[in-house]
Amino acid sequence: MALSEFDIIRRFFDRPQVAAGRSDVLLGIGDDAAVVTVPDDHDLVLCMDTLVAGVHFPEDTSPGSIGHKALAVNLSDLAAMGAEPAWFTLSVTLPHADEDWLAAFAQDMFRLADHYRVQLVGGDVTRGPLSVTVQAHGLVPRGGALRRAGAAVGDHIYVTGTLGDAGLALRLVSQPAPALRQRLDYPSPRVESGLALRGLASAVIDISDGLLADLGHLLEDRGLGAMLEADDLPRSAGFRALAGTTESKKLYYELPLTAGDDYELCFTIPSSRCGEAEAALADLPGGCTCVGVIESEPGIRCRHRDDSTWQPDGGQGYQHFRNDNG
Ligand code: ADP
Ligand code: MG
Repeated sequence: MALSEFDIIRRFFDRPQVAAGRSDVLLGIGDDAAVVTVPDDHDLVLCMDTLVAGVHFPEDTSPGSIGHKALAVNLSDLAAMGAEPAWFTLSVTLPHADEDWLAAFAQDMFRLADHYRVQLVGGDVTRGPLSVTVQAHGLVPRGGALRRAGAAVGDHIYVTGTLGDAGLALRLVSQPAPALRQRLDYPSPRVESGLALRGLASAVIDISDGLLADLGHLLEDRGLGAMLEADDLPRSAGFRALAGTTESKKLYYELPLTAGDDYELCFTIPSSRCGEAEAALADLPGGCTCVGVIESEPGIRCRHRDDSTWQPDGGQGYQHFRNDNG
């Protein structure tokens, strides 16, 4: 028998076990809207991201990955604001109600939700081409949200984790590379790092469109530039094994700078506080690596260990409408 919209909500999204059950949810799924309590002296931080099949994930992506990623990309935005995730809403548009698909989708989404104690409090289910939208809600102590604006000349530039893995996985669709595919399908939002950077980072952004493009957002409004150490960009063992050969040198330098979908954080730290920031992030998932410094001359330049420099292009990252595909 075909599942109705209400069956779908009841069976897959309204979980009685509420593993992430939070006492600040006064009313969750089931009423016309959810009601939550925002603690005194905190600001509410809101973000939303949509994943569309064929645009944000390859058509062969597993339902579990789609469930994980829809929430992860939003938790990554909250991390970049220094916010602690609290609640989320979910809108799913499905071509048809497939029970196995929904079960796998919900399982991996809730695994991530439970890990961060973020509770699903409402949403919507509609029929149509596959697309998933999550809105996430987080909390920061009043006035304490981290921002994109704030980088200053001389600040050091850091990134969490490794860069280019997801981009390389996309290039290698015909060649199985499980560790890289895992990074593409199950990105790790750097929630802990975002919290640790409160009061320390002068600017933060999450890397969804590639380092050059996203670092560019930290620089452009202030008319600043940056020098990046191209050999010091963090690359995973899987990445180095596949992109470290002589023939693939171009990918070795290009992907960590331009490929999107890594969902690491890029942040700047005043030089007097770098030791503190490095110590704060050293033992957190992904750690951090210093990749460059903010300069007054606009534009992003790269330098090799032998001091030769070059100006990379491709700093625009992925832009939906420029590429004219939705
Ligand atoms: P309405 O007709 O008022 O929009 P719905 O029938 O769409 O209500 O939803 C009923 C309840 O189920 C609401 O509390 C709504 O937030 C919740 N809900 C609907 N879809 C989802 C979903 N995908 N995930 C979680 N909760 C959902
Ligand atoms: Mg509705």
